[in-house]
Amino acid sequence: TEACLAAIDGASALNAFAHRTPEIAMERARAADQRIKAGDAPDLCGIPLGIKDLFCTEGVESQAASHILHDFKPEYESTVSAQLRDAGAVMLGKLNMDEFAMGSSNETSTYGPVVNPWKIDDRSLTPGGSSGGSAAAVAADLCLGATGTDTGGSIRQPAAFTGITGLKPTYGRCSRWGIIAFASSLDQAGPMARDVRDCAIMARAMCGHDPKDSTSADLPVPDFEAMLTGDIRGKTIGIPREYRMDGMPDEIEALWAEGRAMLADAGAKIVDISLPHTKYALPAYYVIAPAEASSNLARYDGVRYGHRARLAQGDGIVEMYEKTRAEGFGAEVKRRVMVGTYVLSAGFYDAYYNRARKVRTLIKRDFEEAFAAGVDAILTPATPSPAFGLGEMTDADPVQMYLNDVFTVTVNLAGLPGIAVPTGLDRQGLPLGLQLIGRPWDEGDLLNTAYALE
Ligand code: GLN
Repeated sequence: TEACLAAIDGASALNAFAHRTPEIAMERARAADQRIKAGDAPDLCGIPLGIKDLFCTEGVESQAASHILHDFKPEYESTVSAQLRDAGAVMLGKLNMDEFAMGSSNETSTYGPVVNPWKIDDRSLTPGGSSGGSAAAVAADLCLGATGTDTGGSIRQPAAFTGITGLKPTYGRCSRWGIIAFASSLDQAGPMARDVRDCAIMARAMCGHDPKDSTSADLPVPDFEAMLTGDIRGKTIGIPREYRMDGMPDEIEALWAEGRAMLADAGAKIVDISLPHTKYALPAYYVIAPAEASSNLARYDGVRYGHRARLAQGDGIVEMYEKTRAEGFGAEVKRRVMVGTYVLSAGFYDAYYNRARKVRTLIKRDFEEAFAAGVDAILTPATPSPAFGLGEMTDADPVQMYLNDVFTVTVNLAGLPGIAVPTGLDRQGLPLGLQLIGRPWDEGDLLNTAYALE
């Protein structure tokens, strides 16, 4: 814990941690020492972790990287961070992220952008987003693991950009209670760590039923670590043809082929499959996610939490809402609230929101059919490119940024587990990752297949 705290101080240029909690960390580390001495050490006893700022942590700033939650210190602890604490983990602090987890580059944060520890020449690269602080902190050895959340790829894309491993469990595996909501039907917490084994250990502590989240599944959580045998003989791996995109760098094509060969060498059967509705996933996601966000973010009104705008003589409650929200939210969040409000409005609800929900059902069905035909896991690239430069995409049309999520959003729309595994470097020496998508609730099997890819 002391070494991590010192590393965090030494790496402030990365801007990975938004709030450090050294007192809490040292107190928990000492308690962990006691438990180890007493011979009662749980799985994560004394393991220093970072917690994404989206998780409410008791008495500690939890702002979702937004100015509107300035100085918000919840009186409660999210279920997932409480479970990690109870498993002995030490919280080092809160990790930077995109504002309300909206973004793919960690540039929408009120704390400023996170810098990817990987560099080429002197170009500063994005660590990806929205869990960019989590990814950078793990990649730079500032902590041994971190929590992330994934609504459309925010665990897997930053993991791929920084050469670490990130697991998005099945929707409902981890409780959403106490995690600041973005798009409730898509949001899912998961571990980000150096390798598959560390993700398996963290996932066991993070998953589990929680009566405080009505969408949390009442299913036993297996010992994921014990399931890592590396034996995938007889497994069927599907390669979806729709993920072969025009203009995808040949290095990513090559990496994907290499991944197929590795799994085949390990005894898996590789089959071509079709997920025909893939091309509608991105547009459906960018209707559904903003719709849910616009509804979730209605609660930030200047009354209940965080920031309240300074009012002028004669201002009433409407002016207070307007000024607070105008000052408190950043540009990307405002864009999503406007898009979401539009697609939910009476005149457009059927044309956009309802249609997107139907498309979502078709996407889910594509996966169900593949699994019913005997596919155990699906292998795809994690991202269509390696990490791009900070600022490179922000001036462009926002849709350019959204395109980065093309391989990850399908998994959230279908509620499936997905994992990004670092599998190679591009010509410039930047990390690239592959994604494996598994059957619902079968994270153990998915982790084991990912283990064979390491
Ligand atoms: N990049 C996607 C978005 O901006 C996904 C974000 C996420 O998974 N939290 O919505």
